[in-house]
Amino acid sequence: MQDSESTRQWQVTCVCGWRTSGARGEVVSAVIAHGRDTHSQDLTEEQAMSQAVPMPADE
Ligand SMILES: [Zn+2]
Repeated sequence: MQDSESTRQWQVTCVCGWRTSGARGEVVSAVIAHGRDTHSQDLTEEQAMSQAVPMPADE
């Protein structure tokens, strides 16, 4: 029952209005791919997660 971190959902809203949400690894790879494809920026995992906010876990 202490494992909520691994199932936590995260949400990222980019400055351009693009959004993604999902598990940590999914959000990180989506943000990195979006940064590269849309903004020609290479983001690190740390930079990607700095934009992520945890989704409320109310289910
Ligand atoms: Zn963007």
